[in-house]
Amino acid sequence: MLESPWQKYSPAATQKENKIANGKLFDCLIIGGGITGLTTALLFQKEGKQTAIAEAHTVGFGTTGGTSAHLNTFADTTYAEAESAFGETGAKLFADAIGEGFQLIKTNIEDYRINCDYTSKTGYLYAENEEEVKQLSDIYQSALKVGVSVQYVSDLPTPVPFKQALAFDGQGQFHPLKYLTGLTKAYIDAGGVIMEHTLIDSVITKDGVHIAAGGERELQAKAVVYATHMPPNINVLNFECAPYRSYVMAVKLKSGQYPDALIYDCQEPYHYVRTHIIDGQELLLVGGLDHKTGHGDPEKAFAALEKYIRDYYSVSSIKYRWSSQYYVPADGLPYIGQMPLAATGVYCATGYNGNGMMLGSIAGQILSDLVAGRGSKYEKLFNPGRIKPIDSFSEFVKENADVAYHFVADRFGLHETDSLKRLEKGQGKVVETDGQKVAAYRDDDGVIHALNPVCAHAGCVVSWNSEEKSWDCPCHGARYDIDGQVLTGPATKPLAKNQP
Ligand SMILES: Cc1cc2nc3c(=O)[nH]c(=O)nc-3n(C[C@H](O)[C@H](O)[C@H](O)COP(=O)(O)OP(=O)(O)OC[C@H]3O[C@@H](n4cnc5c(N)ncnc54)[C@H](O)[C@@H]3O)c2cc1C
Repeated sequence: MLESPWQKYSPAATQKENKIANGKLFDCLIIGGGITGLTTALLFQKEGKQTAIAEAHTVGFGTTGGTSAHLNTFADTTYAEAESAFGETGAKLFADAIGEGFQLIKTNIEDYRINCDYTSKTGYLYAENEEEVKQLSDIYQSALKVGVSVQYVSDLPTPVPFKQALAFDGQGQFHPLKYLTGLTKAYIDAGGVIMEHTLIDSVITKDGVHIAAGGERELQAKAVVYATHMPPNINVLNFECAPYRSYVMAVKLKSGQYPDALIYDCQEPYHYVRTHIIDGQELLLVGGLDHKTGHGDPEKAFAALEKYIRDYYSVSSIKYRWSSQYYVPADGLPYIGQMPLAATGVYCATGYNGNGMMLGSIAGQILSDLVAGRGSKYEKLFNPGRIKPIDSFSEFVKENADVAYHFVADRFGLHETDSLKRLEKGQGKVVETDGQKVAAYRDDDGVIHALNPVCAHAGCVVSWNSEEKSWDCPCHGARYDIDGQVLTGPATKPLAKNQP
């Protein structure tokens, strides 16, 4: 596994207790210990409610541990796109949500005195061709319309030739796991309960009480929040969000000159650049090259990212490289609220695109308001059960067309096959032996780890991710380690073992 520089600051180290909570009735059970789960749990716990967090791995294990941690007032879904799908009021509310999420992070940092390398920066977005100049103009006008401060500038700290650029003042950056460490401490101090290594695989509801089961554990709560980035098992949100992998490298520069800004291009997929001091060492973080999980080649993505960095910067060494997963919502806005087709009182939050620091934080506020019965001004806009506007339908079809392909192709064996013998050490592949498909990985000792390649979530065939040594599902983004254990949902069961 490739680790981000954040992950060595595991919040687990700050936990005083890791309580077992069978039999107790909680006001709210939060499933997932990322920025969404911790923010929700802390807000609700501070109101005097009794909450618990169940986390499959350790706090910060998920995408919050693999983010690039930019804090912005603009978003991947531009305010122009939000307006075309949800009208002026929808676009303005979306901007408010982004802004309030950002502000909540700043308030938490201040209130709980969290030392998480927070710094305010200017964010620059630039165009390299005429088409991007037009995009920039739409972004500029729509940002002003929703009240987000932005201006055209002629200078920005990038070596990349550009035609036009926008500057957004008051953006920010931080260390996401130092931030989660602060939230974890505040949550435990407020009496919160965290159960790590507790994967919840089902929630049933009896007489208004939700019973969440995972392994030998059964947890009871009056409300349940899926803060799992994607709710587990098969549900409607699998079909409304497309999983994407995204790549980041942190490099040292020969020049010692690091830009004091957040810089983004408009390419598809895009690149971004920022600076962070990690363990006393200034590093340039460069990311992008996103592709749908299980579709692109992670090795090629890293190679392309490295080439991009070396084309523009004089690199003395590469210190970190990592990849993580985010979810693109079908109509551009996140899904936060009552989970569709689930019992009343079961909530979810997903579809943040690359803006989950702000949207995960505002989700915490929205969900704690909804659980408390106060309602939220965002309830309707982000309702996970909303009917999508017609404008976005083509995007929905595009994002999910290949899901339909995999459902069919995987079942009828249209994938290429190969022989186990040709599998080299460190390599994995879905091969066919005796007419049966096997997800085979040969380890450094030459031992084959053979698994059934059929994803335990919805039955697609997994693909090998050579960079992260994982099996990734091209349909809904479930990921497994070489022994088939779940790394990323929506699967909750491992890949079945198979004899080569
Ligand atoms: C490379 C990359 C860069 C990004 N950069 C930015 C950025 O600069 N700014 C920004 O705002 N956003 C960014 N994002 C998006 C942002 O990081 C995510 O949206 C955000 O971290 C999601 O947080 P979360 O708490 O919802 O999910 P996660 O952090 O993924 O947490 C979910 C947790 O739930 C646990 N879990 C899952 N299933 C179960 C289960 N069944 N039982 C128990 N536990 C379970 C997981 O182990 C995990 O720890 C980026 C994303 C990527 C991939």
